[in-house]
Order: sequence, then structure tokens, then C-alpha cells
Amino acid sequence: MTATTPAVPRTAAHASSSAVAPNYHPLPVVIAEGVGTWLTDTGGRRYLDCLAGYSALNFGHAHPVLLDAARRQLDRVTLTSRAFLHDQLEEFCAELAHLATRANPAMDTVLPMNTGAEAVETAIKLSRKWGYDVKGVPDGEATIVVAAGNFHGRTTTIVSFSTDESARAGFGPFTPGFRVVPYGDAAALEAAVDDTTVAVLLEPVQGEAGVVIPPAGYLPAVRAVCDARGVLLVADEIQSGLGRTGTTFATEAGGVEPAGVRPDVLVLGKALGGGIVPVSAVVSRHDVLGVMTAGSHGSTFGGNPLACAVGRAVVGLLETGEYQERARLLGARLRAGLEALRGRGVTDVRTIGLWAGVDVDPALGTGRALCEEMSARGVLAKDTHGSTIRLAPPLVIDEADLDLALGVLGDSLDALAARR
Ligand code: PLP
Repeated sequence: MTATTPAVPRTAAHASSSAVAPNYHPLPVVIAEGVGTWLTDTGGRRYLDCLAGYSALNFGHAHPVLLDAARRQLDRVTLTSRAFLHDQLEEFCAELAHLATRANPAMDTVLPMNTGAEAVETAIKLSRKWGYDVKGVPDGEATIVVAAGNFHGRTTTIVSFSTDESARAGFGPFTPGFRVVPYGDAAALEAAVDDTTVAVLLEPVQGEAGVVIPPAGYLPAVRAVCDARGVLLVADEIQSGLGRTGTTFATEAGGVEPAGVRPDVLVLGKALGGGIVPVSAVVSRHDVLGVMTAGSHGSTFGGNPLACAVGRAVVGLLETGEYQERARLLGARLRAGLEALRGRGVTDVRTIGLWAGVDVDPALGTGRALCEEMSARGVLAKDTHGSTIRLAPPLVIDEADLDLALGVLGDSLDALAARR
């Protein structure tokens, strides 16, 4: 045992004896190692990871190509700040912009940040500044239309337009300038847009809401409103992007919509850092991102050499199309397996690619209770809220492990039913 290993693992991070702040309620599992789809706890027990770091681990744990990129960069230089240029920055931005042309061929400029919330904040600031500088909205009057049920992060401004009371309570006063409309209702969105509106900010699939896929035709209708009213369409693809939905972006053709919907601004994070370092980015056209002049915005770590090197390796993996194809093929298997559980405690299933929201009969128990049953059987998943769980295994999972996860889900539902 090393000097830093506690004799008794601290499993209850929410217990008052813990030094960890109680802002999470983790499953009582203490992870020590991870490779591919599998995690090992401090006692040597193995678990199948069906959360994949909320899709930050789309390529699995310890992907050799990503680890190699990180190791090589660790030996060269890791941080310069943006006060100087470095030899990974231009390449990362150009390669990511090129990847983003799959969502919108006009994409050519990238503003790198670190976490998802920072990228969303950046997109909000960008939209406001574009609104004042380009659209001519009177200073201080910009509005942004967002959807109920959204999850865009945890900063004070972002929780200002959350509809989740547990994310907001106790954190006011809130930032003004946001209008919340029902998700999936294009008429309500159109009615909320006026001459002060600079952007519509949406998740093309609402992840934290329980993998909620908007009705067919909704995103194109939103695009049409944005075109008609000179408003930026900002797609938060932090969770839906980078392979999860079976396409590189949920907004590209063949994703949520057969013909796609071209966002003006893409917000990316999570898997962009390969599960190794936090990397996020706002991607757009130069005529939009060009309003962010020197001094108007920045971050000490945003676009650092290590982040850019890992991000380039992630873009390289996605350029092959292999992971998107896996998400499509395995997603069909996931969907079939989950549909077969309807009536066995499952009341609704929503899937796109290798990503599923599963609603469980509340009479059986909460999503949390189900996740506890699953973890006792060696599969880690996470409830979103109430009696809904989300399944988002790494895209490197194989058929046998996916079937194992589905079997454990069925057994766990049966165990909850037997206890009623
Ligand atoms: N936007 C979406 C759609 C997300 O799912 C998340 C995180 O779950 C965020 C933003 C915030 O990202 P981060 O936790 O890296 O700040």
C-alpha cells in the first residue's frame, strides 16, 4: 500500500466525515482503473461502464491513440497561455473546423475553452456581441431564446435559464436576457423571437432531460425562424456531438433530421478531451467569431498544447467514421434490447445512436434504485431524474458486453419488481 492510499476506501463521499463537498450523490463504487469499457474498483471488482463520463468517454478509457498523443505532448510542452502561440493551436482549430463542416460547410473558425459550461458561456457572450456589433440590437437589450428542460452547465448565468429548480435554488440573483419556451414547439419559439433576439440556444437532443429527441421537423422549423429573423442558431452538442448519435454531430444530415440542420454556432466539449483533459470549443464562421477581438474574452488554459494535442487525436479518430458507424450498428442492438423490456418495468424508451433514455414504471422504484441494482450486478449507469435512466456506453463497447448490460438491466428490473 502506498502512503497516499487510505486504509479504508472512502465510499460515501456525501458522509459528513468526508473531505469531499456534498454536491454529488455518487453510487458507492470507488474506481481505481479503467480500460476500454471496463472499470475496476479498489477491491478488484470489475464494472461495465454504461455512462462513459456523460459521453466524455466516447472512445472508452485509456484509448491507446489518445494516450499516446497525450504522452507525446506531455514530453514537449503542456501550457503556454494564449500570450504566445504554440505549434498545436492552429492545427487543432483548423482540423476541428474541418470536422465541423459536416454540420455546416461554412464552419471555419474555432474558439477553444476548457469545460462545457465555459464553451456555453462563450457562445452566449459571442451571440450578444454579434447581436450588438452586427445585428444592431440596442446595447444591453439582447435576448436569447432557450428551451425548457435544458441542461447547458452550472454557471450562474447558465442556471439563470434552467428550468430545474434543484439547479437554481439558492443561487440567485439571476442573469436576465433569456426567454424559455417549451422544447419541441416551433410556434412557441417563433412567438418568443423579436427584434432583440440574437440567438436560439438548443440541445439538438436533450441529454440530461432523459435523451429527449425533438419531433421530426422541429429543428428545420427553428432554422427557418432564425433565417427569417436574423438570429444565430446555437447548437449545444457537448453531449450529443462527436459520434454519440451515430453521426459526428446530431445536427448533421442523417442525425436527428434526415437532411440535417445547419447551426451557425456549434458548442462542443466532453469527448473532445478524450476523457483525458477538459477540452471545449465554440465553432462558427469567421464573420461571427470575428467579433471576439483581442481582450474581449479568454482563458488561461483554453487551447493549451496538451488539450490541442489530445483534441487533434480525437478529431483524427472521428475522421475515420469508425466510431459513428459503431454507434449506429450497436445503437440498433441497444434499441431492440430495450424495446424488448417494455412491459417488464420499462414504460418508454428513446434512443438515437448508442444513447438511450429509459423510463421505468415509478411503482418499481426510482432511477437511482435501478442504478443501485445494476451496479450491484456489475453495470454502472446513471439516473437523469425521477424514474429515468440514461445509457451511454463507450462507443468501443462490443456486442457481447452490450448484451451483458441489457441482461443486467432486465435482471435489475425483475429484482425491483420482486420487492414491491
Ligand atoms: N451542455 C450540455 C448539453 C451538457 O450535457 C453538459 C454537461 O453535461 C454541459 C453543457 C456542461 O458541461 P461541463 O460539465 O463540462 O461544464
